[in-house]
Amino acid sequence: MYCPSAHTSKATSASPKQPCTLGVELEFVAVVPDNSEFTAHDTVWEVLRKPISLPCPYNCPQGHHELRLPVDNQPPSYWQHHDDDNEYNTWVVGRDCSVRLSDDEKPFYPNESVYSDVELQCRILDFFNPTPCPHNQAWPCNGQPLTWNWRDEITTMINALKQGFNRPGFRVFANGTCGLHLHVGRHDLGFNLDTTKNVMGMFTALERCFDAILPIDRIGAYEDDRFPLPSLISASTTAIQPWIPSKGFNYTSPMSVRQFESLANSVMIAYDKSDVSDFTNAVKYGASIPMWIHRVYSCRTMAELCEYSHPHQSSVNLQHLAPQNNSPGGWPGSLPKKTIEFRLHTGTLDVVEICAWIDLLCRLTVYCENTSTTTLTAWIETQWDNADVTLVDIARLVNAADSTVRHYTSVLLTPDYATNFFNTATTSQAPDILTPLTTQVESTRLSQTCRSGISARITQKLISGRYGQFPNSFLKKVLPAELLEGNDGRYLSNEMEEEQMEAWASEIEERARLAIDERQRWDSRRGASTCLNNLFD
Ligand SMILES: [Zn+2]
Repeated sequence: MYCPSAHTSKATSASPKQPCTLGVELEFVAVVPDNSEFTAHDTVWEVLRKPISLPCPYNCPQGHHELRLPVDNQPPSYWQHHDDDNEYNTWVVGRDCSVRLSDDEKPFYPNESVYSDVELQCRILDFFNPTPCPHNQAWPCNGQPLTWNWRDEITTMINALKQGFNRPGFRVFANGTCGLHLHVGRHDLGFNLDTTKNVMGMFTALERCFDAILPIDRIGAYEDDRFPLPSLISASTTAIQPWIPSKGFNYTSPMSVRQFESLANSVMIAYDKSDVSDFTNAVKYGASIPMWIHRVYSCRTMAELCEYSHPHQSSVNLQHLAPQNNSPGGWPGSLPKKTIEFRLHTGTLDVVEICAWIDLLCRLTVYCENTSTTTLTAWIETQWDNADVTLVDIARLVNAADSTVRHYTSVLLTPDYATNFFNTATTSQAPDILTPLTTQVESTRLSQTCRSGISARITQKLISGRYGQFPNSFLKKVLPAELLEGNDGRYLSNEMEEEQMEAWASEIEERARLAIDERQRWDSRRGASTCLNNLFD
């Protein structure tokens, strides 16, 4: 296993006083009885805006004080029409129409219930320092101002939410349609190009480590056929099920997708211009991580780098750093956030999962800021094809909290993590009319987070070429021997023989020719219709 101690000395000695801010968007489903006083989303707001009893940090005789949570004074209906005005000083209860019950959950949804899609938007929290109460509350016993550290605030909010819904006929839960989006920033300072390259570099080089904590159907990959993937699985392969596209593709798009799109583009341009050396280079080196890293680190401007996280659903979304979006009014209607948004995590209301993810990514971003691009690329060079590196090693490298390291160790290495999660989630509330629905939701999660299923999905992604090519030593270590003996993995190695290289190059050439033919047909059709339009002008 990779030992990060030699690399961390520099990062840990750096002062943790630099700004680091965070905000999470928690998507979930809320259910209430249909004769309830409030709708389900209004109930969320009603629950959270009530004062709660907080333990006194000064150990005064009263012990506890009634104080308000940092929740906004406006109801969800206000924010449905004023979403762009959110300055993130308070938690806002919003809606998200992408959150819904799935088809296999609907049969368990009682007629006597109504549900709402909810997006609970956290306020901007400081990662290293306490954040003042937005309502300017003070502790009644000594008048000291109330402040929150991020972990306590998020834990208290979620516990209050769950407590408020712990009644017969009431429920909050995250199902497969929900996401957990995390914004990491530096107040309004934004990130410099090198830090952003380092973050992109980590996610590009170690995509398979991040995939390992996603539910099976969130592990997405390149689905276009413009570029032939570096491996083909023949029908005779029975050891591994072939890759099939998943729903995950709609939620989050990993770094490899953009790299393959960009590769398809450069191959087409080189073919079109008959540029032999560019074409040969693209074929020879294009479909593997070192080239992708080279492309990321060669970017000269933020705009260029943002091209590698182009769609909004990119797992690392840079749209809030893109210069064209980053001036007031530049991003239609909303204030510039200057954050990196991490969108890959599945929806959850589990405090341990949420806090571990926040801690990991804030630490990772700070590490990327404190580490030179030379040092980080040197690390990537030794780790991208290390079959043993896991998210736990990444957590250690970036100096994540012990609880974070323990959490990911448990997720990745404890076979019953998913089962324990299921047992806790299905027994946390007394049985009622909603028990069959929550059991169904949790059963789906259980099957989606089963370790062997996730490993099989990652192997499918690898063998179908969707992580790019790897050295033989890596492939031998991670793939069953019978797969490497046959013809199946013939283009998967970046050390392929000259003969294979030529065969692959001609496949790529053929695909480029087809794509260009199609584009020309399209252009000529469009040209024809333009002529026709001119006739009638
Ligand atoms: Zn007190």
